Amino acid sequence: MLEIISFVLGPVLTNVYLVADPQSKAAVVIDPAWDGALLASEAERRGWRISQIWLTHAHFDHIAGAGELAARVVPPPQAALHPLDLPLWRMQGGAKMFGMHIDAGPEPEIAMTHGQILHLGELEFEVRHTPGHTPGHVIFYCQEEKVVFCGDLIFQGSIGRTDLPGGDYRALMDSIHSQILTLEDETRLFSGHGVETTVAEERVENPFLT
Ligand SMILES: [Zn+2]
Ligand SMILES: [Zn+2]
Repeated sequence: MLEIISFVLGPVLTNVYLVADPQSKAAVVIDPAWDGALLASEAERRGWRISQIWLTHAHFDHIAGAGELAARVVPPPQAALHPLDLPLWRMQGGAKMFGMHIDAGPEPEIAMTHGQILHLGELEFEVRHTPGHTPGHVIFYCQEEKVVFCGDLIFQGSIGRTDLPGGDYRALMDSIHSQILTLEDETRLFSGHGVETTVAEERVENPFLT
């Protein structure tokens, strides 16, 4: 069983997911947007051990809590990022463009690749490279639980913006069609912003896809 605790954190209301296999108490944080200390204490309260930080992409509003999180967890969790987003990560995810300074912690050590399997206790997540919003954007798909953490690729009724540096509209649409719409209808989508949705709902109701 997969347990998902979601938070809405930071200046642009980013969804952060604390995800665990309660049996083994193994946990990861997907996109620690802000308030790393809060995430660390929530995991501690539940007796979960955060072993890794999985980043869908390196925009500042998805990584800004990683420094504080890494500082509060012993041993510090390693961060995983697709290498094509490393340049963006090194530029603090564009925080400066928005007049901010962030601490995203130690540089990600795990270089994710398309098709890579990430483990969370007994559960397996497939990394799918989904460029378009950023060059190194990825999503995390757990087939067994029919769940996808899809970052800023697709939202309920909307799609990721492609007007920021590194954005590519055609690539984004390609990614959605090949990596999301090919999944089973009942697959749940947990986006980087907004509410939970499903593949079926977006297939029918997303105005950008019809
Ligand atoms: Zn983004
Ligand atoms: Zn975002």
